[in-house]
Amino acid sequence: MAWILRLVKTGAEGEGPCTDVMEINRPDDLVDIANLGLTLSEAKRLLAGVQREIVAAQAREHAVRRPDCSRCGEVCRLKDYRDHAVATLFGEVTARLPRFRCAACGGIEAGVGWPPRCRSTPELDRLQAHLSALMTYRTAADLLEQMFPVDAGKHHETLRRHTLKVGEALGDYVATRPETAASAIVVTLDSTFIRSCAEGERHLEVRVGNVETPSGGRQVFGAVAKSGTDIRALIRRNLDAVGRAKDTALTAFTDSCPGLRRVLADAGVITRPMLDWFHIAMRLQHLKQIASALPVDDPARAEAKEVIVAEVERLHWRIWNGKARDAQVSIERIRAVMHHFQGEPEEQTCIAPSRKLWTALRALDGYLTSQSAWLVNYAERHRAGLRVGTAITEGTANFLVNRRMNKSQQMRWSRRGADLLLQVRCAVYNGTLGSGFGQKFQPANDTYPQMAIAA
Ligand SMILES: [Zn+2]
Repeated sequence: MAWILRLVKTGAEGEGPCTDVMEINRPDDLVDIANLGLTLSEAKRLLAGVQREIVAAQAREHAVRRPDCSRCGEVCRLKDYRDHAVATLFGEVTARLPRFRCAACGGIEAGVGWPPRCRSTPELDRLQAHLSALMTYRTAADLLEQMFPVDAGKHHETLRRHTLKVGEALGDYVATRPETAASAIVVTLDSTFIRSCAEGERHLEVRVGNVETPSGGRQVFGAVAKSGTDIRALIRRNLDAVGRAKDTALTAFTDSCPGLRRVLADAGVITRPMLDWFHIAMRLQHLKQIASALPVDDPARAEAKEVIVAEVERLHWRIWNGKARDAQVSIERIRAVMHHFQGEPEEQTCIAPSRKLWTALRALDGYLTSQSAWLVNYAERHRAGLRVGTAITEGTANFLVNRRMNKSQQMRWSRRGADLLLQVRCAVYNGTLGSGFGQKFQPANDTYPQMAIAA
């Protein structure tokens, strides 16, 4: 069986000229299910063919328009035609457009309203950026080529260039304030690291965070430190985007880094940021694991281990209930029985459980002492239905940074490249990347970890 795909132009004056786009030949039996309907390659040829015809017709119409001279305002005359190759999602097209010369002053004019140096459509740029935000440039390029009749700009370097350009343009994005102001906003800020490709520099610090309202409005943001993107401006913009007003109650969470607290203050979040329960819970979890691995090869050790495990639990309870000042009591009690584990075979090495416990305990002690000003009564907040931490930010960090840029993939990043890609990833998440493609989607690991809830 064969078909001819014919494109007929219609308008106010009825049907216009028609063009045959392509002939489709398919077997007329379905013995092989692979014969059912169009193949991908036919569909791609079809899209490319339709695109070419439509663009050619559009260019013909466009060429009729005569510009006035931009210098003297006189009428221009046709000079010559130029071919403009433009990459589109449905193939590379060539628009044949006229240039004009002014009859009075001899000035050359391009056509009316044709953008200079236009090599690709915004839709293609945006889809390339969107896909590159989710997967490597190479995979994104391959995917596009598999699915669409793109025949220009499909090299991964091109995708990278377009994506970074989109990321750059996002810097000028102005948040639209929602109609209703938010009564409360929780701001969270955290940092993570990615590998640097620069000589003499191992890691790049990435700051990520989100703003949330009680009604579920949520925006994420992120910036690579010292990349040129101002994280303070991003925070302000995101607060605006979820409806910050004069009387909005702000709550802030961050980790123990003083730099992040300064960033929040500089961004106008002047409420005292609380230490994220998530970070404390991680340390407690670590301590619990070590305690449970202590050997019980004699009764004295079994007894000591029981004391330690119970004290670690009590320590957890104390911090959770805002009694971190009493943490010292637990720490001292653990220290008092630790001598039972001396003389372990591997005692001199850092892998001995007693040695690990000692190290973890000292680290937690120092942490609690230095962070005491930012600890709150987490239990009370939790009972009141308030946030106790930003596990959600940890999820956001994983989603925004680690899954696309992380170390396990052995990727190395330039400061600017990583930052601009991060801007695109945030925009994809927030649904602000263009109009047609910026669909929101949930990060898969964006759940509250059990240990925070079980606290
Ligand atoms: Zn002129």
